[in-house]
Amino acid sequence: MARERTLDVEKFRQTLEEERDRLRSELKRIEDKAAGRDRLHSEQAGQDFDEPGGDAATETVERAQSMAVGASLREQLDEVLAALDKIDKGTYGICDSCGKPITKKRLAVLPWATLCKECRSGLSGM
Ligand SMILES: [Zn+2]
Repeated sequence: MARERTLDVEKFRQTLEEERDRLRSELKRIEDKAAGRDRLHSEQAGQDFDEPGGDAATETVERAQSMAVGASLREQLDEVLAALDKIDKGTYGICDSCGKPITKKRLAVLPWATLCKECRSGLSGM
């Protein structure tokens, strides 16, 4: 249990678990909203669009937006879960692609990073 690492993995685990919980509740909120269980009108103060179609158009746009947000949240949740999995396997902080260590600086900014900067930037369209 008292394994020493150069990387403070437990601190990252805590950060990742908090992020996982945050993403899950955020996703749930969006899904509830999309399912129509949360029909609270979002405030539109300051918006002054003069669109024909009014509410229906706005609702379609909002729905599309929350679907897009939901998709990116789910993507990020996958990354967080993958990072937590790597902590369990003892490979956290190691690039999935080239096997080199991911810099601490990068992990400080992106605790769920599973690829090093070079491999990440080498992937176009992801
Ligand atoms: Zn790499």
